[in-house]
Amino acid sequence: MGHEFSGRVTEVGDGVTRVKPGDRVVVEPIIICGRCRFCTSGRYNICEKRAFHGASGKDGAFSCYSVVQERQAHKIPDSISFEQGALVEPAAVALHAVRSSSLKVGDRVAVFGAGAVGLMVIEAARIAGAGQIHVVETSPQRRARALELGADTAIDPFAEDPVARIHALTEGGADIAFELSGAPPVLQQAILATHNGAEITVISIWEQPATINPNTIVSYERTVRGILAYRDNFPAVIDLMMKGHFTADKLVTKKIPLANLIEDGFEELVRDKKHIKILVEPPV
Ligand SMILES: [Zn+2]
Repeated sequence: MGHEFSGRVTEVGDGVTRVKPGDRVVVEPIIICGRCRFCTSGRYNICEKRAFHGASGKDGAFSCYSVVQERQAHKIPDSISFEQGALVEPAAVALHAVRSSSLKVGDRVAVFGAGAVGLMVIEAARIAGAGQIHVVETSPQRRARALELGADTAIDPFAEDPVARIHALTEGGADIAFELSGAPPVLQQAILATHNGAEITVISIWEQPATINPNTIVSYERTVRGILAYRDNFPAVIDLMMKGHFTADKLVTKKIPLANLIEDGFEELVRDKKHIKILVEPPV
């Protein structure tokens, strides 16, 4: 396992020209066929044979060495630390969500879920010129971090009705909602938090079905769209990081050695929702 990572190139295969031993790189983990109609039309993130290095049985980043294709390696400058580089992948998801949305300068945005990608969606929406950003999140630590990263309001859905509050704050509903909680009741809330004709982008990967009333889409001409991962935007993320965006200081809440991965990593992430990203350091 392990698909969000950076490192130094130690060896290259025959015919590799873009990177050389010693280069510092981040890895774009999407594995693609390169031949299907989606790959050949530039939408390789929805390749028919898509897989992810570190999540689909390949040798992932929870190791000292990992072998990837040349296409997957993106060089990073010395000003970007390896720790920062490990955040390029989740930041690329946030960037793809915002870049492929219809967000315009001044739009009022609702974000449901402020984990790592949700926080980076907030930051990306702020960079893209959102006029207001309202976040719904159950964890108090994540709500506080959302405000630091540019949210105007952080709403606790256990304390108040997030739909009513967003309608009040936006005078009738958000222009765009981003859904990142993966919690079944939240999908309907994200739809209802927007105004007539608005757009909802679903980013969560769901572990179970969610129930919605389709009339809340049809009768109001709302658009609900899904996005998966990213395409062609790692260099843009790296550029934004060089300008100080998506900084590890605000997103990495703990660093652990590889040997403690299970109890101090996976188990703690499940147990303690104050964490955003736990960084794993290999022994070399
Ligand atoms: Zn393909």
